[in-house]
Amino acid sequence: MDDADHEAARRDLVASLRRRLDVDERTLAAIGSVPRHAFVPEGHRSRAYADRPLPIGHDQTISAPHMVALMTDLLDVGPGDRVLEVGTGCGYHAAVVAEIVGPGNVYSVEYVPELAESARERLRRLGYDVTVQAGDGRTAFRDEAPFDAAYLTCAPTDAVPDQIVERVRSGGRVVAPVGRAGAQRLVRLTIGAEGVDREDHGGVRFVPMR
Ligand code: SAH
Repeated sequence: MDDADHEAARRDLVASLRRRLDVDERTLAAIGSVPRHAFVPEGHRSRAYADRPLPIGHDQTISAPHMVALMTDLLDVGPGDRVLEVGTGCGYHAAVVAEIVGPGNVYSVEYVPELAESARERLRRLGYDVTVQAGDGRTAFRDEAPFDAAYLTCAPTDAVPDQIVERVRSGGRVVAPVGRAGAQRLVRLTIGAEGVDREDHGGVRFVPMR
């Protein structure tokens, strides 16, 4: 497949997401701008624009495009908002969010040092100004708080750790899969002065948070 094939496949993917999902045009434009094929291992490039998860090494996966679109839409961020991502993986989701919030506004932490290193290099090469750190999402980027929003691409067993919720400003949002394998739910928390509002957005399947 050459660049033109990838571009055509990406346009088809966006058209299909537009038919199937109730998400903002801004979210679809971001999916339409990020070269997903440049984020997946070479052997999987021909399937980069199929709406399914793909392996990225170290027993981890890149989420299916509809899941990235849905989570990005639920974050409800705009230009200039500062976002914390827990679980960089290959960096694809971070690039999609960076298309919306702009350069320098996405902070992403990845537990596996090799994945953090290759995602940092890949994002830089593709022109995305995303700050990637190797470490644990519970403690990374404390000095950068408060964020306008945060999301997890790995699932904590019981609840989003307080340390992450506390790094989001009042009025901000946290989007995360929560629960054990086979019983995970996608939740959106809205942080209020009086407490946290929790919405359920259906069953999902993510790797566990370590
Ligand atoms: N958003 C990614 C998907 C990555 S899969 C992408 O677009 O490719 C989830 C990632 O979360 C894995 O890479 C895993 O190593 C990472 N992870 C798991 N537990 C973590 C933790 N406690 N802190 C940071 N990252 C974690």
